[in-house]
Amino acid sequence: MTSTKQVSKNGILTSVTALKGVGAQLAKKLEKLGIYTLQDMLFHLPRQYADRTRVTPIGSLQPNQSVVIEAEVRGTDVVFGKRRSLICRVQDNTGTLSLRFYHFSNAQRATLATGARIRCYGETRRGASGLELYHPEYQLLSSNAAHSGLEETLTPIYPVTEGITQNRLRTLIKQALTHAKDFDFRGYLALLPTDTPEESAPAISIPNSLFEPLAYLHAPAKDADLAQLLAGEHPYQQVLIMEELTAYQLNLLRLREQRQQQAAVPLAVDKALEDQFIQALGFTLTSAQQRVVEDISQDLRLSIPMMRLLQGDVGSGKTVVAALAALHAIAHQQQVVIMAPTEILAEQHRLNFEKWFSPLGICVGSLTGKQKVKERREQHAALEQGVTQVVIGTHALFQDSVVFNRLALVIIDEQHRFGVHQRLSLRNKGNEHTGIPHQLIMTATPIPRTLAMSAYADLDYSVIDELPKGRIPVETVIISQQKRPEIIQRIDYACQQGRQAYWVCTLIENSEALEAQAAEEAATLLASTLPNLTVGLVHGRLKPVEKEQVMAQFKAGEIDLLVATTVIEVGVDVPNASLMIIENPERLGLAQLHQLRGRVGRGSIASHCVLLYGDKVSLNGKERLKAMRSTSDGFKIAEVDLQLRGPGEVLGTRQTGDIDFALADLRRDLYLMPKVNAYAQAIITLFPEHIAPLSERWLGKNTHYAQA
Ligand code: ADP
Ligand code: MG
Repeated sequence: MTSTKQVSKNGILTSVTALKGVGAQLAKKLEKLGIYTLQDMLFHLPRQYADRTRVTPIGSLQPNQSVVIEAEVRGTDVVFGKRRSLICRVQDNTGTLSLRFYHFSNAQRATLATGARIRCYGETRRGASGLELYHPEYQLLSSNAAHSGLEETLTPIYPVTEGITQNRLRTLIKQALTHAKDFDFRGYLALLPTDTPEESAPAISIPNSLFEPLAYLHAPAKDADLAQLLAGEHPYQQVLIMEELTAYQLNLLRLREQRQQQAAVPLAVDKALEDQFIQALGFTLTSAQQRVVEDISQDLRLSIPMMRLLQGDVGSGKTVVAALAALHAIAHQQQVVIMAPTEILAEQHRLNFEKWFSPLGICVGSLTGKQKVKERREQHAALEQGVTQVVIGTHALFQDSVVFNRLALVIIDEQHRFGVHQRLSLRNKGNEHTGIPHQLIMTATPIPRTLAMSAYADLDYSVIDELPKGRIPVETVIISQQKRPEIIQRIDYACQQGRQAYWVCTLIENSEALEAQAAEEAATLLASTLPNLTVGLVHGRLKPVEKEQVMAQFKAGEIDLLVATTVIEVGVDVPNASLMIIENPERLGLAQLHQLRGRVGRGSIASHCVLLYGDKVSLNGKERLKAMRSTSDGFKIAEVDLQLRGPGEVLGTRQTGDIDFALADLRRDLYLMPKVNAYAQAIITLFPEHIAPLSERWLGKNTHYAQA
């Protein structure tokens, strides 16, 4: 390590070790933040800003403000509450405030002596004693030093990791910026969201280098619009957001292109087989189903792997579309795998497929976690020998020991329950005869077009936008817990009429155990209040066999009222169930509620969904529930969810890891997607040389190692 390191003009990919003070050890820590090169350093952007350019009088503080105060210590005490804490009361000539520390030393306590003058940086919170600053950064001031030494610009607050402080990063980034003025930001295309409405049109012209936006965003001027910056709406932020989204989009489009280089078995439709199947169905396909089947047919004819996302609202009839897709492969003596997210659904599919396929002489197998070793071995063997033509199962299908004879089509139901890796692991189960299997991914989650564009740009997309004829929309009512007795009467009445009902207990603090317990209690209570009814119970804590047994009984009409947790969310089909009560619906996302509600209204009887809200529901919570009442259109519901809860909720990526953008926020920036998509397409055709540097800048953080 020397202090005379050179950084060349095109040194954007220079290793951070070229900076003064960065040795191997610090470089290791920086790697944890994805920072390898000077470029990475410059694009490590603040997530927050604090205004340390001026002192705020205590009297005018609001909660949740990042502030500087200067005050005199009036007293410091250790308080023994839920947690031991050090409370320091401070005062200026406009008011008093408490500083609260949970970790503190005796020495620290001693310096906060009565009469000492201090300057604190921190965020105001409403605490036990009025407004408080938790663990503020602070410095003691000598008697008359007030208002000197404040910052000249807004203070950036960076994502940090253990062993790297804010100050350390600030210094390093400042240093990187001194080199960056002449950098060639390769791939920079001066992207600005130009069709923003007139009144919010950015007040700057498109910068001709990224230096200016970066320098500004790392140290915004004293008079910058802090609210705008915090909202990510500064035009300089937008320039970068456009770039980031475009880079991400390009990456997905590239994945798509790579896929088109791969080989798959072409599976042209066998019309005779298809007709035979359709004739035996007992209903005619909706025109939406027909259109989607046609999309799939067109894909499967080709010798490149299909990768199609099929969205269809609950009850729109995706299963039969899956069966029609499967017939393509079967007609060519190829195998099909169908993945379901739960045992219950796998079993339901197996029954359906056996009913449909056995008369056609097609061999249907199954692989689930609950199977005994012997049975599983037999299933494995039948798959490997190619006896099984369609296999339906759960996660058990991902195992390495599952070998296919000639797998040509993978169908994944309710895809948001599976992670990308699991999806990919099935893709690898093809072999030299089949190449990459075709893939059909089915989801009931309505994905707004803009979101689909950003998250699934690598997939083709079809929608079943029509329900089978004769369905009566579910009527939804929102009722307070206090009216529970009346609702229970209503269940009694419905079941006396020969119908069936669900009672759904929702998740408590993400705990399956608590949820199961609540369901048990509800079931006991309901059984004693409704002695004439048979009450069943199903929750995630039951053994798969037990779950299945209960579901089978409910399906067979042997259970009148099924008390359940959210395990019944996806796919379960019991057309005679016409009433669903959801307790504490405010705990769930709208998309999830919509899925649950889709369990009723599957037959030709008018159905009802009662949202039995708790007394703690917020105003916002109630608004969301109203959206459920006013529409049964899954897409509209998803739009509301997207606004209120963010894309993670809609895409169901909470389990699989959110897309980790440096700057963009899909919820906030989704409106940019059409523009982003157009840019990405244009870059591919007109400026392909920009793709690599853009991807290097925004996505490549963990893949490149710099040349110092
Ligand atoms: P989802 O799209 O939610 O998976 P399913 O495939 O389970 O929906 O279908 C829901 C119900 O509608 C099933 O009982 C299915 O047999 C029936 N169904 C599917 N398509 C049609 C149609 N075209 N006409 C009438 N009923 C249909
Ligand atoms: Mg389904």
